[in-house]
Amino acid sequence: MRQSKLFTKTRREAPKDEEAKNAQLLIRGGYIHKEMAGVYNFLPLGLRVLKNVETIIREEMNAIGGVEMRTAVLQSKDVWEKSGRWSDQVVDNWFKTKLKNGAEAGLSFTNEEAYSNILKQYINSYKDLPAYPYDFKEIFRNEARSKSGIMRGREFYWKALYSFSKNEEEHNEFYEKSKVAYQNIFDRVGIGAFTYITFASGGTFSKFSHEFQTVTEAGEDIIYIDEEKKQAINKEVNTSEVLDILGFKKEKLVEKKAVEVGNIFTLGTKFSEPFDLKYKNEKGEGELVFMGSYGIGLGRLLGTIVEVSSDDKGIIWPESVAPFKYHLVEIISEKPEVRETAEKIYKKLGVENCLYDDRDLRAGEKFADADLLGMPYQIVVSEKNISVGKVELKDRKTSEIKMIIEDEI
Ligand code: ATP
Ligand code: MG
Repeated sequence: MRQSKLFTKTRREAPKDEEAKNAQLLIRGGYIHKEMAGVYNFLPLGLRVLKNVETIIREEMNAIGGVEMRTAVLQSKDVWEKSGRWSDQVVDNWFKTKLKNGAEAGLSFTNEEAYSNILKQYINSYKDLPAYPYDFKEIFRNEARSKSGIMRGREFYWKALYSFSKNEEEHNEFYEKSKVAYQNIFDRVGIGAFTYITFASGGTFSKFSHEFQTVTEAGEDIIYIDEEKKQAINKEVNTSEVLDILGFKKEKLVEKKAVEVGNIFTLGTKFSEPFDLKYKNEKGEGELVFMGSYGIGLGRLLGTIVEVSSDDKGIIWPESVAPFKYHLVEIISEKPEVRETAEKIYKKLGVENCLYDDRDLRAGEKFADADLLGMPYQIVVSEKNISVGKVELKDRKTSEIKMIIEDEI
């Protein structure tokens, strides 16, 4: 893509009310635009990153049997009354609205009820199970405070998968697979080394849930890490009894701040009961479906990547999620060969892989922009370089510069 066609521009300063580094850098780069506290617009470059993250998550969910669908944002009061979660006394962060006829509707803050209600229509026999539907969706939560940039939004984009199994054993099998899929996702987006599977509080049907916590000063959670096991325990369950159960040694644990990028949860029959979600087993008897939930916040994940992969100059995107792999920087010159060379390289790399800075700006501004925007590789075409038949290739992460001949690209 030609940068001259990109309506967004970089800015030197982040808005004064923006405290979080992730939001500061993303706003300065023109990746996102703040609508209000906790609500962000994804601009063209930001959307490209979000889509790359989405593709990786989709591939890993499909690989373990996930089936993608899309649930509605406007949710029916009747459905949520079944589980008791319509009430503002039970759920204090609902956004609710009124239809023209006066009826109430809620904006999804989570998805268990929607899925339980839908699957009730389709699950009759043991042959219909297991089922692993999931969706990517805009979620709304009226959070009391929102100062972590896109890491804690009032409106945010997530992936949620729900597992519907015949029994606990079948559930556990999938639950273990989902752990591997989650680790794959965090590895692939470049935060695997800083991300720990973390024991957190469970519910009626399991003592623990599991969070995927990425170590960063920007995190709102406190975890205790056992580096050898590559596991952690959340502060909320860190008691000597729990440490014993899980085989953690107190003296080995290191306290860190971290952000929960995803979590997996055994729900059991908590929702299948109120929805009377049953199937007929092989003997023809009705049994309750056994459920689990598996979430990842994509905006939060994107913010976390920026927190752990940036320097004083700007963002350093891992190749797997970068909006473009290459940033082609043309140093404006009167010599027509400079433009000709840049155009040739642009054509070769392609509009999908290359952001081409064809703007009429000073070299210094272009370099600063390229570092702020953070594409993995910068290619500099200048009068000086082409006079020796070469172009400059810079690795954004290591700052290593190589002079290469055009054909090597
Ligand atoms: P937290 O403990 O951080 O408040 P949660 O446990 O309420 O999150 P879930 O409801 O289980 O989170 O949502 C699943 C995932 O969605 C979380 O692991 C996180 O990645 C993401 N998420 C949750 N709340 C937000 C938010 N306000 N903004 C952005 N992402 C969020
Ligand atoms: Mg949580």
